[in-house]
Parts: sequence; structure tokens; C-alpha cells
Amino acid sequence: MVNGKFNSDVVIGLEIHFQPNLKSKLFCSCATKAETKKNENSKDEPNTRTCVICLGMPGSKPMLNKKALDYGLKLGLALNCSIALELIFSRKSYFYPDLAKNYQISQFELPLGKNGEIVLSSGKKIGIERIHLEEDPASLVHPNTIHDSAYTLIDYNRSGICLIELVTKPEMRSPEEAREFLKKLRTILQYLEIFDEQTGVIKADANISIKESGYVRSEVKNITGFKEIERALLYEVERQKQAMQNNEKLVMDTRGWNALTGKTTRLRTKETEADYGYIIDPDLVPIDITQEMIEKTKRGLPELPDEKIKRFITKHKLSPIDAQVLAMERVLAELFEKVAEEIDPILAAQWLRHELVKVANYHKLALDQLRIEELEIVELLSMVEKKEISDRTAQQILSLLTEKGFSPRQYVKEHKLTIVSDTKELEELCKKAIAESQPAIDDYKAGKEIALNNVVGKVMKYTKGTADAAKVKDMLKKMLR
Ligand SMILES: [Zn+2]
Repeated sequence: MVNGKFNSDVVIGLEIHFQPNLKSKLFCSCATKAETKKNENSKDEPNTRTCVICLGMPGSKPMLNKKALDYGLKLGLALNCSIALELIFSRKSYFYPDLAKNYQISQFELPLGKNGEIVLSSGKKIGIERIHLEEDPASLVHPNTIHDSAYTLIDYNRSGICLIELVTKPEMRSPEEAREFLKKLRTILQYLEIFDEQTGVIKADANISIKESGYVRSEVKNITGFKEIERALLYEVERQKQAMQNNEKLVMDTRGWNALTGKTTRLRTKETEADYGYIIDPDLVPIDITQEMIEKTKRGLPELPDEKIKRFITKHKLSPIDAQVLAMERVLAELFEKVAEEIDPILAAQWLRHELVKVANYHKLALDQLRIEELEIVELLSMVEKKEISDRTAQQILSLLTEKGFSPRQYVKEHKLTIVSDTKELEELCKKAIAESQPAIDDYKAGKEIALNNVVGKVMKYTKGTADAAKVKDMLKKMLR
């Protein structure tokens, strides 16, 4: 069936679920998060955020959370999907205790969005098959492990929470392409502000097959988190290749991902899709999605990463790689735009994409967790621009700035960090350094250019790093001629 359809060595398709940052559930007003009061731990008591609707009591009527539709529409339009003109929900019937009513409300016949795409930096388009809304089931709680618990507890707090499902076409050719796809998706979710990365969960089921086996596919279920998805894909491609090398025959199966062992294991072999017996939900009347709604949502969309990259290149003359790195992080992109109004954009881009990212990595924080005041950054970089302070001084101040607020200019004044630009003073220091570095000077004169760095280092030390190292080097060279 699928054989012959593909021509790449690896074929990957993803089914991604994420929980949009909504306050209430998809069809009732129950809260999606435990309420936290001051001086209280956010302990979520089981089965406290439930009602007759999300418990599926007979006679209860679900009502659509309008914001969930807004979010779905935003994402669909941002990914260039064609939007259904009618919102229809189906009941996906199955018997399992994680849904009290024995069916899950999902979309089947007519997804909210279809035929969209995400464009990778190579220009390759990864197709989006469909985007739809559905409700999350309850969580099953096993007192011990799933295999040796005498009973199972059920917590319906999660039951009925909105999920957005996004299914890609099987068009990714490597785990690296999948990573780039996910990164782009993550950035788009950041821009649209419909997903909270700190608290929201993103899960994926991945279909993976390789050419050597004739594209016999394995489905890896329930991989949580962007990083884990890539790890699971890398492992699974390798496992399949290894199996072929060992002359094993691959069969279509469903596998689980274990993040601790870093391996996938077989859950079951699967030949056909389970028949869920979808029926249109009679309690939820179809909602018309009008052209007006679509137009209004479109107008409300922020500038998306691809457009931002283009604008950064044309307006601010950034290199494509700088533009891309900045645009892929919303915090960075927004900060850049504000700073670039006051500072040379190229200088601003360099400092934000390299130095600020370095500071974030050093503190092991995401960029949006850093304390960043644009005015302070502008003040700091304007001193760099005018060469009033050395790069090293600026790096140190930048690191301090992300922890607590202060005026960089004041700080430089108080700590006497202004660059030593007085030539007379620098000359004196260079003389002093030469006098103290006889062995290095001898090496330099014997042709070892690199030995001079030692002398430059001394001058930098005398000036507490405030001198311009390149200028010092020139000066030394002249003096040693
Ligand atoms: Zn409820």
C-alpha cells in the first residue's frame, strides 16, 4: 500500500496534541488548573474540578468554549490551513474508565483546519493533514506500577480539558527535519500565545518507517515534550536499521517510549485501526464558521516568524541567519525590535543572539524567565556602540542586569569601568607590561606572533579589562618595532 509512495530513506509523520492555555474546559466551565491561594501549595485534590458535563451525567448538555474555537482558528490560519465552514463534533465511542460517558468528543468527519503547511528553512514544506479540537480523558492513577497495582484510581480533573490535535503528512525525512518542524511549531505557538510552555504539555505519536524494510511502520505512542520526540525518533530509526542489518523482519507495531531507558518497546502489533464507531454528537449543534469570523481572526494574527525574518533582513539589513535566530524566539525578536530603534541593528542583533543567549544558558533559564528591561539594555549597548566600555565589561554588566535592575551608565561610573582611551595612559601601561614580560618579548621578536597575547593580557589586567584589546595590540606592535 504505502510502498512505492515514498522515495526517501526515512519517513516520519507526527500526530501532535497540546493543551492550549484556556482557563476552562472544552464543554463546561470547570477550571483547567487548581486555584492557588497565597501561602498555599497548589495541591490539586482529585475530582474537585468536575461537573455533570465533564463527568457525562445523563441529561447534561455540553456547551462549546468559544475561546477554544478562537485558538483553533488562529492556529489553523497561521499554518495556512483551509478552514471548515461548519464546526461539527463527533463521539468517538470506546469503553474505558478514563471517560465516564464511554465516548470522547472529538472531530472526525470535518476537521477545523486541513491542508496546511510549515515551511522549513531549506524551503521544504511539511504538510499539515488536519487540525482539530477534542477533549482530554481522565487520568488513571495506579497506586504502584501499572502491572502490580491491586486497583486503579481515576481522577476526572483532566477529563474534558481541550486538546488541539495536529496531524502532519508523512513528509519528514529525518529526525532532524522533525526537530526543525517542531521548533517552528513551537515558535508559532509562542507568537500566537495559545500555549504555555512552562506548564502546558505537548505530546506526540510518531509514525516511523525506513526504506530498507519497505516502509513497514512503527507507531510510537505518547512521547512527551519537544526534546523527547526527537530522541525517540533518533532511537527508532536506528533500531529499525539495526533490525534490517540483523536480517530481522519488521512488522507493523505500536510502541511505547521510555524516557528513562531511552528506548521504545512494543506494546502490540497492529494491523488495522480500531473501529471507534464515530457518530455526530447530537448534543452539540453545528456552529457556522463565517467568512467574517475567518477574516477577523486573520486580521488579529500577529506578524508570524517567517514574515518577521523577511522584514528583519530588508528593514534592518540583518544576515538571514541572524534574522532567523532572533525571530525563532519571540522574546528575543520583540526585544531586538525595540533595541534596534536606538542602537545599530547589526550590533544589537549580535549582542542579543550571542551574549544574551549565553547569559540565559549560564543561568539555565529560558529567555522569558530572565529579567530583561529594554531601557537598561539600550543604555548598555549604547555605551558599547560609542566604545565607552569594552566588550568584556559589557558582558559582565549584561549578566548582572538579568538578575537585578540598575542603570548601566551609573554602574560604569561608580566602578570606574570606562574604557582607557587616553593614549598617554595606555602607553605607560604598555611600557610597564613590556618591562615585565621579557621572555614573551624575546619569543615575539623571534617570530612567535602569539607570544604578544601574553603582553596584551597584562595590559588588560592593569585596566581591569576596560581597554580596547585590539588597540593595545597595535600599540605594542608599534613600540616593539
Ligand atoms: Zn465540568
